[in-house]
Amino acid sequence: MSLNYAKRMDNIKASEIRELLKLTQQPNIISFAGGMPAPESFPIEEFIKIGRQVLENTGAQALQYGPTEGYQPLREAIAKRMAKVKVDVKAENILVTSGSQQGLDFVAKIFINPGDIIVCESPTYLGAINAFKAYEPKFIEVSTDKDGMNMEELEEVLKSNDNIKFIYVIPDFQNPSGKTWSVERRIKLVELANKYNVAVVEDNPYGELRFEGEILPAVKHFDTEGRVAFLGTFSKILCPGLRLGWVAAAPEFLSKFILVKQGADLQSSTISQMEAAKFLELYNIDEHIQKIIDIYRKRRDVMMKTIEEEFPEGVSYTYPEGGLFTWVVLPEYMNARELALKALEQNVAYVPGGSFFPNGGNENTFRLNYSNMDEERIVEGIKRLGKVIKDAIR
Ligand code: PMP
Repeated sequence: MSLNYAKRMDNIKASEIRELLKLTQQPNIISFAGGMPAPESFPIEEFIKIGRQVLENTGAQALQYGPTEGYQPLREAIAKRMAKVKVDVKAENILVTSGSQQGLDFVAKIFINPGDIIVCESPTYLGAINAFKAYEPKFIEVSTDKDGMNMEELEEVLKSNDNIKFIYVIPDFQNPSGKTWSVERRIKLVELANKYNVAVVEDNPYGELRFEGEILPAVKHFDTEGRVAFLGTFSKILCPGLRLGWVAAAPEFLSKFILVKQGADLQSSTISQMEAAKFLELYNIDEHIQKIIDIYRKRRDVMMKTIEEEFPEGVSYTYPEGGLFTWVVLPEYMNARELALKALEQNVAYVPGGSFFPNGGNENTFRLNYSNMDEERIVEGIKRLGKVIKDAIR
């Protein structure tokens, strides 16, 4: 039987990462594939106490419907925390979402008619590509270098296309490339968005996970006209299971998100929001983030050192200053999808890079995650991967 599904379903494929993650559930696999936080960083004891408190003191409220915009004390706490990335907003500028993934779906729902153009970095986050694809856009990819998106190329694109709806960027420790934009590029991006009248979607799950140096001001910090929507999340600084993220935007822009939030799920989970707000009230999340940073910095160091020792000449990679990923570029004739099968035979998994390019190509690339495996497994996994690459390189 074949049901008469909508045309948009032709564009929606199972995420390669989700398929791979199924395989990597097996305990003997060393997985650099997912983007999962270190479970040992989760504040389980704290959440046991918080859960009791929230239910004992405010149980009826926690189990009831709440406002679409979000639980007010949480909106206030989020607005305050946005100062970390130098964004000055109030609770009224915040909509709580079910992860930032929901913000990505909303942004496409708000802007995209079939055939409209989205501009993004090349490569970009697979989850965003999939969320956007449901609304049948065209993607224009703009190349990046070590300082972020290439601004001359972006201006050319903006000049020569008139139905561009938004520019989607991940300026800090990008998924998948691990790259971070310079401040100059952030300023220039806003300048160009103003000049060509397009919106900017800044997806920023990793900005606070900086291992060295100062946290950089968000693109939103430079927004003079209210055209930047900032997507934030608790997934990487607390835990993804809460499913809590947010959109920070100017009131009129935010009102569109609120409208689609009503239609999507009325509101994010009241009890999750109350627990997150309680965590922020009772504990020091900055100290908690510092603990996560200390774990990830060590893992990044071990992974990068082992890569340096074990990967052959002709292979290049990003040195990430924060976040969860590094990005590997093999010689052009090599195919990272084929190589992934050989790596899996050695019980090592990664995500082939081709899926992070909405218009295809670049099959000689792959992404490595270092947040989820302990140091010993990182060393062993990278050694095995190095051998697989050495065996295949000419
Ligand atoms: N954006 C980016 C760039 C991500 O890497 C992720 C998670 N991997 C998300 C958004 C979605 O995260 P969540 O829905 O858990 O907030």
